[in-house]
Amino acid sequence: MLENLVIDGQTIKPGERKKIFLRIAALYDYTDISIPIEVIRGKVDGPILFISAAIHGDEINGVEIVKRVLKRVSVDKLKGTLIAIPIVNVFGFNNLSRYLPDRRDLNRSFPGQKNGSLASRLASIFMKEIVNKCTHGIDLHTGAVHRTNLPQIRACLDNATTKTLAKAFGVPVVIDSSLRDGSLREAARRKGIPMLLFEGGEALRFEESIIRSGVKGCISTMRSIGLLPKLKQTELKTEQKTFIANDSYWVRAPHSGSFLVNKHIGARVYKGDVLAKISDPFGESIHQVEADKDGIIIGMTKIPLVSCGDAMFHIATFTNTKKVRQAIELYDELI
Ligand SMILES: [Zn+2]
Repeated sequence: MLENLVIDGQTIKPGERKKIFLRIAALYDYTDISIPIEVIRGKVDGPILFISAAIHGDEINGVEIVKRVLKRVSVDKLKGTLIAIPIVNVFGFNNLSRYLPDRRDLNRSFPGQKNGSLASRLASIFMKEIVNKCTHGIDLHTGAVHRTNLPQIRACLDNATTKTLAKAFGVPVVIDSSLRDGSLREAARRKGIPMLLFEGGEALRFEESIIRSGVKGCISTMRSIGLLPKLKQTELKTEQKTFIANDSYWVRAPHSGSFLVNKHIGARVYKGDVLAKISDPFGESIHQVEADKDGIIIGMTKIPLVSCGDAMFHIATFTNTKKVRQAIELYDELI
């Protein structure tokens, strides 16, 4: 049994539920800034999972996902510990911004340095106080401003444990995603901590279907690692199918202008399909935006204005696109 779990100098004993405000820095006016954390520790030992949101401060669907997960768990139900961090980048969250005040991207600043920039210090504290104490992690994201993503998991699938977690989360689409320098995922991997990244919806919105998808995924993952009890056979609904994309590509605007879309998020597309039509201010001089390969739209811009070369549609390719589309339809009905 892990004797003491200590975060920011505070001990969380078995069977305890505690809120911690992890101080990270001060504002110009000396106001202290802290990361809100809730730790729920079961009476029995088990895995230690962190669920974090808003590492990009404007990606807020995850904030609501964490709130709802917190309502679903209790000390009595857990075999192990949940560390919930609804808002990691508190600076960005308060400014409706992806970034920190020093204009750095927190998810490019891991593992950070104790004496580094503000972003680097925050990353370093987060690693030391949270990530290094965990056995598993889930980090919740959305698309950027004016971009939306199909609910999807991104993970390093060459790790067998991570692959099992990715399937357990239960969204139809999983992307075997390479690591970016300075990302939390890369830092966790170096520590040998399997981690999932959930992407869904767009920045600065609470989107009900995305939130439900994230909550369902977090709870399923907790069951799969034994943190929550497994469902009885009779309680299991239709088994969700998960498909790993072979690859993904972006379709870029062939011309500047304004456009109407023909295909939406989650749609199945064939090579040569017209995804959108860009036109001039008179509705003339039309340029078609076409799919390069068959696949599923997993991300797209929401603003109907483009400059030539702007990324418009993110399309994932699969061995059997038809089956993936069917799984998405089934999933949408369940959510
Ligand atoms: Zn993000």
